Amino acid sequence: RADLALYAAKNKGRDNLALFEPRLDQEARERRDIEADLREALARDQMRLHFQPIIELDTGQTTGYEALLRWYHPTRGVLGPADFLPVAEDTGLITSIGEWVIRRALEETVGWDGDFRIAINLSTTQVADAKLVAAVSQALRATDFPTERVELEITEHVLMDTSDANRETLLALRELGVRIALDDFGTGYSSLAYLRRFPFNRIKIDRAFVRDVTHDLGSQAIISTITRLAEAMDMETTAEGIEDREQLDLLRKLGVKEAQGFLICKPMLAETLAQEDPEHGAKITP
Ligand code: C2E
Ligand code: MG
Ligand code: MG
Ligand code: MG
Repeated sequence: RADLALYAAKNKGRDNLALFEPRLDQEARERRDIEADLREALARDQMRLHFQPIIELDTGQTTGYEALLRWYHPTRGVLGPADFLPVAEDTGLITSIGEWVIRRALEETVGWDGDFRIAINLSTTQVADAKLVAAVSQALRATDFPTERVELEITEHVLMDTSDANRETLLALRELGVRIALDDFGTGYSSLAYLRRFPFNRIKIDRAFVRDVTHDLGSQAIISTITRLAEAMDMETTAEGIEDREQLDLLRKLGVKEAQGFLICKPMLAETLAQEDPEHGAKITP
C-alpha cells in the first residue's frame, strides 16, 4: 500500500502527495506512541509471560514450557511480540525487556513440580549484547533454577554474524550449562550449514512444515529427514504449531520426539495454566 501511495503520488503530482502524508504521519505517530508506552511498560508492570506446554509424543508427558512474551497494554489490549518487539529492538529496550523475561520465566516456574525444561526466546540483538551471559547466570543464581533445565531458543540469524562474536556468546552459554535450541528450523536460507556451526541441543521444526504435513509429501520427507539428521547429530526435535490430531499422529510416525501447538495447549498465564492443568500433565493421550 505504501508503494501504491508513492506510485499514485508520482503520477498525479505534488498535490496528491499531501493526501498521503497524514497516513504516513499517523503511522509514525503510532510507532512513537508505542515506543513511549514501551519505555514505561516494565515499570508499570504491564509485561506478562504466557507459557505453552511441550509434550513428548511417545508418552504424552509434558517435558517443558515455552515462555512467550505478552504486553497487557492499558488501551490496546494484549499485544504479541510481533506488535512491539521490533520497536524494542530498534530502541535498545530489548535489553531490559529481555533480561526481565529471563528472570521472570525462571521465577514463575521454579516452584512447579516435575522435571520440565523452561524455554526462553532470545533475539539476535540480545545475543549480540556482551552482558547477556552475565544476565543469564545472574538470573540462575537469583532464582536457584536448575541450569540444565533452561533452554534458550535462537534462530539461525544469530549465526549469520560473520565476526563469530555471537557464536562465542552461545558457547559461553553452553559453558554455563544451559541448553540451546535452534528455533523455526527450515525457514531460513542455509539451515544445514548452521547446524555445523554450533552444537545445538534441539531443533524446533517450523510450523510451516507442520501445517502442510498431512497433505504434502514434500513436508513429510523434510520432517523425517530433519529427525534423522537430528538423531545422527545427537540433537532432540520439537515440532511447532500442531493444530490437529492428524498432524500429531503423523509427526510421531515421522520420528519427531516432542510437540507443541494449540491442539495440545495454547500459551497462557501461569495461573490460568495451573487451573487448566493442575498436575502440569499432558492434555493429549498418545
Ligand atoms: P516462536 O518462538 O517460534 O514461538 C512460537 C509461536 O507460535 C508463538 O507466537 C506461539 O504463540 C505460536 N503458536 C504456538 N502454537 C501454535 C499453533 O498451534 N498454531 C499457531 N498458528 N501458532 C502457534 P508468539 O507468542 O506470537 O511469538 C512469536 C515470536 O516472537 C516467537 O516465535 C519468538 O520468536 C518471539 N518471542 C516470543 N516471546 C519472546 C521473548 O520473550 N523474547 C524474544 N526475544 N522473542 C520472543
Ligand atoms: Mg521459540
Ligand atoms: Mg518457532
Ligand atoms: Mg518464530
